Amino acid sequence: MRDCLFCRIVRKEVPASVAFEDETVLAFCDIHPQAPLHLLLIPKKHIRSVDALEAGDGAVVGHLFEVARDLARAHGVAAGGYRLVTNTNEGAGQSVWHMHFHLLGGRPFGWPPG
Ligand code: AMP
Ligand code: ZN
Repeated sequence: MRDCLFCRIVRKEVPASVAFEDETVLAFCDIHPQAPLHLLLIPKKHIRSVDALEAGDGAVVGHLFEVARDLARAHGVAAGGYRLVTNTNEGAGQSVWHMHFHLLGGRPFGWPPG
């Protein structure tokens, strides 16, 4: 998607602080961090939201969970606990229309979320 912000980050047209990258996924720092650790994990393929997932997307979504697990451990938040969130569609607060997981850690989290 030519004009999608996160596709532009994948193509390195927009700068980002990259925490992890491989052939199918990218992780980078959220520009407005809501916790001491706040990374965004995205498939490199443009997928609009969880609501737009199609047959065949399962492998990359599963891989995103593995990358989240490894990044949480690498940044020292796994034992203390972390939040993996994907806001889906407007009512849930999605503002960038390229599916992403927020990986938040390094502070306590309340429940239910706001
Ligand atoms: P959401 O509102 O769940 O769709 O999350 C979008 C996230 O993208 C927000 O937490 C923003 O702070 C973050 N964001 C927006 N623009 C950028 C950018 N250029 N680089 C990194 N994170 C961004
Ligand atoms: Zn995109």
